[in-house]
Amino acid sequence: MSISHERTRVRGEAPDLRLFDVTGKGVFALDLDEDGRVIAVGAMGAALLGKDRDDLLDRLPAEVFPVPVAQAVHDCAAQATFPSRVIQTLMPTRLVSDRTVEWTLHGLAAGAERVALLEADDVTVRKRNDNRLRNMARAVEQSPISVVITDVKGMIEYVNPRFTQVTGYGYDEAIGMTPSIVKSGFTSPQQYRELWETIVSGREWRGELLNRRKNGDLFWEHISISPIRDDTGAIVRFVAVKEDVTMRKEYEKRLLYQAHYDDLTKLPNRLLSIDRLTQALARADRNREHVGVAFIDLDNFKKVNDTLGHTYGDDLLRVAARRLVGCIRASDTVGRLGGDEFLIVLPDLHDPAHALSVADKILEAFQEPFLILGHSITTTASVGLTIFPGDGREANILLRNADAAMYRAKDAGRNCCRTFHAGLNAIAMHRLRLESLLSGALDRGEIFVVYQPQVDTRTGRLVGAEALARWRNPELGMVSPLDFVPLAEDSGLIELIGRHVLETACQQLARWRDHLPPDARVGVNVSSRQVAVPGFADIVEQALNKAGLPPHCLEIELTESLFALRVATVVETLNALRAMGVRLAVDDFGTGYSSLSYLREFPVNTVKIDRSFMIPVGDEAADSLVRAIVTMGHSLGLQVVGEGIETAQQLEFLQQVGCDAVQGYFLSKPLPAEAFLRFATRA
Ligand code: C2E
Ligand code: MG
Ligand code: MG
Repeated sequence: MSISHERTRVRGEAPDLRLFDVTGKGVFALDLDEDGRVIAVGAMGAALLGKDRDDLLDRLPAEVFPVPVAQAVHDCAAQATFPSRVIQTLMPTRLVSDRTVEWTLHGLAAGAERVALLEADDVTVRKRNDNRLRNMARAVEQSPISVVITDVKGMIEYVNPRFTQVTGYGYDEAIGMTPSIVKSGFTSPQQYRELWETIVSGREWRGELLNRRKNGDLFWEHISISPIRDDTGAIVRFVAVKEDVTMRKEYEKRLLYQAHYDDLTKLPNRLLSIDRLTQALARADRNREHVGVAFIDLDNFKKVNDTLGHTYGDDLLRVAARRLVGCIRASDTVGRLGGDEFLIVLPDLHDPAHALSVADKILEAFQEPFLILGHSITTTASVGLTIFPGDGREANILLRNADAAMYRAKDAGRNCCRTFHAGLNAIAMHRLRLESLLSGALDRGEIFVVYQPQVDTRTGRLVGAEALARWRNPELGMVSPLDFVPLAEDSGLIELIGRHVLETACQQLARWRDHLPPDARVGVNVSSRQVAVPGFADIVEQALNKAGLPPHCLEIELTESLFALRVATVVETLNALRAMGVRLAVDDFGTGYSSLSYLREFPVNTVKIDRSFMIPVGDEAADSLVRAIVTMGHSLGLQVVGEGIETAQQLEFLQQVGCDAVQGYFLSKPLPAEAFLRFATRA
């Protein structure tokens, strides 16, 4: 202590030590003539070293500073002139992590004496922030998503490499421009105004825009633009994050077409025809007009198909479709319901008798023989006609009645038109009969389950089975689930039948497990109606417990429409099933709602490509769609299963596109339990 006083006396007034702390750094004064001995130290410096100030005074650098710092002081003391030096060291501390300290050494000549000022700056936080910023910048630079930053006026200040890759505009070309360089001209000024108003008011804007690349190509972007604020909350920039969704849009468009049009005739299919009918009915109801609904069945189509073959049959359907289109106005609809059945919707009829004249035109159009592949073929048509609102007010009633009327035309000797008369509805009678028999079918043990094998596309190894319901009735014979499931859905019986199938399938697989690969699973089809009932997840859990089957061995097959609805209770049920470990599959993919976006949102494991995609292997459009579904499915981490494989070529094609598993008649038809076990354990 006394020494230090003496020393300060030698060097003049004692410095006010508070001065040492004004820079916010630790400051030490060192005597270079005494090998850098500490002459004075501020409170911060002492704190940084974790020592009392008195413990530091008069010490040599090697006693108090980290080695590189002490070395630098030593070097400085040995020199005549002293350049400033900066040294960074890690300081071990008692804190969890070491601190990084930046030391700066300034040598000074004060008259004859030489002193040094040593500053110690704790840069731990700054360095950590630097690192974080560097990582963030790297992530943005390498992001697979375009990032654009503009100033508040919309002038581009930054684009990442992905932007350049997607748009074709280089960094230097984009900077200083506005994002309108990618404008396609297809977005309305109104839409831009909304976008701008949203972000200027401080909210995030999200949407999809059709934009244009530098080379002129159009592309779709999913865009989200958010304001960036400074510390005071003022908006200083905007950041846009953009994903090129052109491929997805393209797939969706094609799926939408596939879901709504018949491949063979290019006419609206059942789904779209009925949709058009429903719209026409709503409009006619408002405008107090009539709608004509005609059901058309070709008279000897089956004979042509059976005797001349499918090529002729297909060609005949195409030409017949063209003739039907020739009989109607542009605002009318001709659709193909399936097989040789067509539907005509005549909307906005002021006079219902007009429908009769269209029916006459149709009969007339079929009088002339068809020339198919050099053969002259005569095929007449039978037409059943109903009129809204007299013959029914709802689409399904009108269709059913038109169908009944068409059968009356057949009974009357074909090649004619009949209108609907209530009371003669054979279809309705049959349906009533089915309904009453179905209500007792479970109790009589008429409902049973068959199993269709699913195998690995590459190895041929069994991956599982799909459980399919069957109804065998002494009076009706075998009834297809396509006929009785909709009935059961209408009457609510589906809950009981579905539960029976679920429990049977779980128990069956549990019994088989010793003979099957350990992860073999069983797929159970479930109606939307079953899933919509609260407590469905409990029913599944009980079925699994009762059977002693692990949840991952059960795959619930659901239809696309279920996802499209996004009903809250359904979403909850699906999440509960997944949480339990049960697998979920989208059945008949590509026929319904046809949007891939929901697959991202729902916890699905598997997509099953509908068998309608398999039939035309070799057809470019369908093949590329299958390929696209497989690619998209895999990119979402899903298993893709192909359904309805009937030929070796189809199997080969699915192998080639990387589809994971397949099922279909080519491998096996659905089998009764014993036969399935034989199939599964075949050598
Ligand atoms: P799905 O779930 O798509 O089942 C596949 C259907 O395709 C089955 O018809 C199967 O026999 C048939 N199939 C399999 N391989 C081929 C093939 O190579 N070529 C052809 N042409 N068809 C093949 P199935 O058994 O008549 O069932 C029809 C539909 O009924 C099922 O379609 C499913 O949606 C529904 N269904 C069946 N069982 C149940 C059930 O227990 N509950 C519910 N809710 N629906 C069921
Ligand atoms: Mg299925
Ligand atoms: Mg299916």
